[in-house]
Amino acid sequence: MDLNLILSPIENWIEGLDQPLVISGPCSAESEEQLLATARQLKANTNIQVLRAGIWKPRTRPGTFEGVGVVGLKWLQKAKEETGLLTAVEVANAEHVELALKFGVDILWVGARTTVNPFSVQEVADALRGYDVPVLVKNPINPDLQLWIGALERINQAGITKLGAIHRGFSPMSGSQYRNDPQWEIPIELKRMIPALPMICDPSHIAGNRALIEPVSQKAYDLQMNGVMIESHIDPDNALSDAKQQITPKTLASMLDRLIIRDPETTDVDFELRLKDLRTKIDKIDNELLEVMASRMQVAEEIAMHKKDHNITILQVNRYEEIMNNRVEKGKKLLLKEEFVKNLYEMIHNNSIKRQTEIMNAENKSGETV
Ligand code: PEP
Ligand code: MN
Repeated sequence: MDLNLILSPIENWIEGLDQPLVISGPCSAESEEQLLATARQLKANTNIQVLRAGIWKPRTRPGTFEGVGVVGLKWLQKAKEETGLLTAVEVANAEHVELALKFGVDILWVGARTTVNPFSVQEVADALRGYDVPVLVKNPINPDLQLWIGALERINQAGITKLGAIHRGFSPMSGSQYRNDPQWEIPIELKRMIPALPMICDPSHIAGNRALIEPVSQKAYDLQMNGVMIESHIDPDNALSDAKQQITPKTLASMLDRLIIRDPETTDVDFELRLKDLRTKIDKIDNELLEVMASRMQVAEEIAMHKKDHNITILQVNRYEEIMNNRVEKGKKLLLKEEFVKNLYEMIHNNSIKRQTEIMNAENKSGETV
């Protein structure tokens, strides 16, 4: 399906933006004092552009803090008047949109739990019709790029052109070091499909803990994302939601100072020559890799015919395990990560089985030897 989004560049939404956009503020607005003190400290210590606060909180279990509701919008308005920061809140239904706009919120975002539901996204989109407010759409909690694109399309079709995406990671399998797995390939693919779409990273919800916020932010900058959304709180340990992943405005300030913003391009001739040289090497290696892969596939086909002749099943589990263990061990000696080698061989082996099945079926149908 065609991707015909009409998009306005992020520099047009935020006056004077000449560096990555930084959105920060508490996970939740908790009290007027907490929100105002956080906003003041953000203003005093950083030059971030946007103050965020959750007003209505989508919580996994009932009975936990579900946000202060509409009164928080008044506090946000006050913080904006006092600090000059733009404001941003999460909206999940038409009433949220109407209230946020009534109280002068500058940027709205659709949360990960809302993006998964096209009915809710459509309700938000319908409520936005006729307004010229920037809207950021978080990825759905499951790694479904089409669902993310669908939500962006619904909002865009309602006339919102100041539209961006927020990458906040995906519900992980057990054992991940992240609260939400980044799966960087998904936002990269979205950017490839819709290059004009501004992409903001949310390192707080990816990391889930303070230690990982900085490396995730750096990675986002290295991938040329357009900004970051980072949760901050005057007293993170006692935050009513997401306490483990919030940092103080001062910690945020020193982290932002350390982050390196790299140039996408350079006019340095030596750099360009060396890069070209290295890319030529990679091209050559890739060529060899493909040729080796084709030879491997040819041998797999010969094996299929040999098995067919002797009436043997295609998949032999012992052999599969032997290949895996042996290749992982060999990979380790070559300093290749176990996960990488496993994924690679899973793909190679699956493909080989698929090809062998095709060969067997073709033989069966025609009754001839392939
Ligand atoms: C949030 O930003 O506080 C939030 C609830 O995020 P997400 O929708 O990414 O879980
Ligand atoms: Mn949060």
